[in-house]
Amino acid sequence: MDAFCPACGQPMSWVSGHFHCDACHTDYQQTALCPDCQQPLQELKACGAVDYFCQNGHGMISKKWITFTYSPYSQE
Ligand SMILES: [Zn+2]
Ligand SMILES: [Zn+2]
Repeated sequence: MDAFCPACGQPMSWVSGHFHCDACHTDYQQTALCPDCQQPLQELKACGAVDYFCQNGHGMISKKWITFTYSPYSQE
């Protein structure tokens, strides 16, 4: 999956559990948001695939509708 830096728009690389922008030297974590209620989706991992589930009554969300946002990654 391609991920683009929210600050500079450059493609980010995946580094051990988070995204990293080489241009900004910043780490980001990805959050999947429900397209209907803009709340974070629960990730359901099964058989190597990831499904996304809205706990606010919108059910399973197809990947093509998901909004991904990137926020600074905390190492703590
Ligand atoms: Zn950047
Ligand atoms: Zn929802």
